[in-house]
Amino acid sequence: MSDRIIYDITPFTHLDYPDNLAAIVWFVGCNMRCMYCYNSDIVFAKEGRYTPDDLLSFLRKRTGLLDGVVLSGGEPTLHDLAPLCRKIRALGFKIKLDTNGLNPTRLRELVEEGLVQYVALDFKANGARFGYITGSSRYERFLESLDFLIGAKCPFEVRTTVHPDLLGKEAVEAMAGELYRRGYRGTYYLQSFVETGRNIADIGPPTHSFKEQRLDTPLPVLWR
Ligand code: SF4
Repeated sequence: MSDRIIYDITPFTHLDYPDNLAAIVWFVGCNMRCMYCYNSDIVFAKEGRYTPDDLLSFLRKRTGLLDGVVLSGGEPTLHDLAPLCRKIRALGFKIKLDTNGLNPTRLRELVEEGLVQYVALDFKANGARFGYITGSSRYERFLESLDFLIGAKCPFEVRTTVHPDLLGKEAVEAMAGELYRRGYRGTYYLQSFVETGRNIADIGPPTHSFKEQRLDTPLPVLWR
């Protein structure tokens, strides 16, 4: 792969890294094909606009202006992030990692070395629905990442994109139950599918919603 592994850089956000001003780094490629994904340009890209050195040059000019960097994509853990993260940390930035959890080995490496300070883990679906929605048969890898984070000291959150025709109320309740059984005690964040006019499976807007209904879950749930 080209060393232009960064599809693009969003120079400033106060929404994506809780309590921090941050830049977002969008890495090319993904090991999932989520039906509702509207980032197909990033998912299928072979190379992006920037190299890791370009990112570091950008960040050197942002010291004192930004608190952190969000590593997103695509799926950032497809790439060997540790060397880059060490350099980002040396510049004084905190790092948040957005991941689908399919690379528990790389996640563990980043967390155990203290290279990431916050993780947002996407819980796409549970059981058989996982493969249907994501196109990936590696649900056990997601569970390995989840179990690792539950036992680690790094702050993290679990979040799910909800298209009610793909993931109904009972499915979401079952996922919350699964999180609780495995030891997760944080807030479970839900985000509604956003209709952008195009997505990987060309699915349309949901035919119904359960956003206003009370969910029967052992965890606090928050819609974003
Ligand atoms: S929504 Fe799915 S396919 Fe799209 S970038 Fe995220 S993990 Fe990859």
